[in-house]
Amino acid sequence: MAAFKLTYATMFNPPEELHLGFDKAVERLKANLGREYGMMIDNKDVLADEKFENRSPVDTDLVLARMQKGGVRHAQDAMSAARKAFPMWSRTPWKQRVALLRKAASLIEERIFDLGAATALQVGKNRMEALGDVQETADLIHYSCSQMEQNDGYIREMGRDPLVGYSARNVSMLRPYGVWLVISPFNFPSALTGGPLGAALVSGNTAVIKPATDTPWVVRLLAECFRDAGLPDGVMNFVTGPGSTLGQALVDSPEVDGVTFTGSFDVGIRMYQEFAKRSYVRPMILELGGKNPVIVSRHANLEHATLGIMRSAFGLQGQKCSAASRIIAEEPVYDELVARLKEATGKLIIGNPTDRNVNVGPVINQNAYKNFKDFCEEINQGGGRFLTGGNVKTGGMFDKGFYCEPTFVTDLPFEHRLWKHEMFLPITTIGVVSTLNEAMQIANDVNYGLTAGFYGSDEEVNWFYDNIQTGLSYANRPQGATTGAWPGYQPFGGWKASGSSGKNAGGLYYLPLYMHEQIHIMVKPAVASKKAAPKKIVKKTASRKAIKKPVKKTRR
Ligand code: NAP
Repeated sequence: MAAFKLTYATMFNPPEELHLGFDKAVERLKANLGREYGMMIDNKDVLADEKFENRSPVDTDLVLARMQKGGVRHAQDAMSAARKAFPMWSRTPWKQRVALLRKAASLIEERIFDLGAATALQVGKNRMEALGDVQETADLIHYSCSQMEQNDGYIREMGRDPLVGYSARNVSMLRPYGVWLVISPFNFPSALTGGPLGAALVSGNTAVIKPATDTPWVVRLLAECFRDAGLPDGVMNFVTGPGSTLGQALVDSPEVDGVTFTGSFDVGIRMYQEFAKRSYVRPMILELGGKNPVIVSRHANLEHATLGIMRSAFGLQGQKCSAASRIIAEEPVYDELVARLKEATGKLIIGNPTDRNVNVGPVINQNAYKNFKDFCEEINQGGGRFLTGGNVKTGGMFDKGFYCEPTFVTDLPFEHRLWKHEMFLPITTIGVVSTLNEAMQIANDVNYGLTAGFYGSDEEVNWFYDNIQTGLSYANRPQGATTGAWPGYQPFGGWKASGSSGKNAGGLYYLPLYMHEQIHIMVKPAVASKKAAPKKIVKKTASRKAIKKPVKKTRR
């Protein structure tokens, strides 16, 4: 397996060892389900009075873990622990921080099968998507470490002032803000907690992390990798509980110096507006939703387009911010594309996502399941036609989880609200246009601007890049029309309502978001310096003498 590098682009043909490791891990975990896990505050396990059961969407009879329902007091304790640890951690030499975080990333890689199996059981991801989430986490952390190294800890000599009787050395430093809060969504519990956490910590911030209520177990297992790497007390704190109470208390805490929130637009934008009411402006990195279009030109390679669309529409049951949720095809290829998509969807296997051959698992919870049914009803009433799917799966094992059919919709008028609303489910609408310009106008006519895909000729590709308003734009990619970004290769982030920073995670400009700049200006009188240029000092002495001469003359 040494030669195999797992990414979302390579995961379709994994080596056998990967399957074996995953299967064994599922067995191992299943034999040990239902344990109680504490929160982790100041490196101690902390229990709350109230608990909640973390059940699997694959089979709701499975209690994966018993977790703590943390409240306001736990939010305060976690923040205080992070505050207390900040002076020590921020003064820890950056190379030492890098070494500790690389160790955490290595532990994540060592535990990839357990973390991957837990992800599959907890989120309903198929095995390769689940393993990918874990490997991506390690790679995000490694990438942040390598950015720190490549930029020499972000300590840079600036120009020296011109010599005017003193010498001035100017140094630019990026320094951590303080206590960083990371709030993550359910769909990439490891990568979207561990990635921002790694960036915050390697920069010298201390952190509090809060996972989604649907995915606390796998994030606890992830947090253990950071703990076991040897992070000092209070540097990383893990709390669990409802976003509306615990999460809100964390965001409201006066101790918070910066936030990374990944989740829905509605929660994120409200948080941003509230956060702005503080006594001074603090950074908040928002990574929000998407309504990602795929434009298929009359010159497209339809085989690649079909593969890419299928992977991006129904990977993780359409519950990716980058999911291909809108397909806009030029009229000459529309019929053939639709036929190909129908045929390919018929081949997808829906079922228990830990099983080797399953492509499509359950959606995350009862709420998502209900939304699926409601949206299908709305589509029906709005004039849409189900090319595939349109129903939940019932009977046998399907009755124990939240299984929905992969659904392509045609004939829904472009004016319908579901062309703009993020459904976050395996539902993708397909529309037909006469020209590429019309397609681009529809593609950009949404609040979101996360990812987009295009299939067409090389000349058209440049037009696509020039006109599309998204943080990532994929052209002619069979591995995924709009999904499958990997740190260091395709840094990930959104424009418009999809993100706040304009800088993509796993990319060149991300790490500095976690630090503010300080310039150190060190002035020394030139004469005091032994190394100062002797000639210039002599010159100055001479000129002083020259000034004194006429004075003497006057005395005489
Ligand atoms: P969500 O409902 O917005 O929840 C995200 C996180 O926020 C959860 O941990 C949630 O906790 C917490 N939360 C909720 N209300 C809060 C509050 N008032 N204060 C503090 N925290 C609060 O999103 P989701 O359903 O988990 O995830 C799906 C969304 O995330 C989609 O819109 C998707 O597009 C977006 N997403 C974006 C990216 C990206 O990189 N742009 C990546 C992945 C997902 P609870 O679970 O306890 O409520």
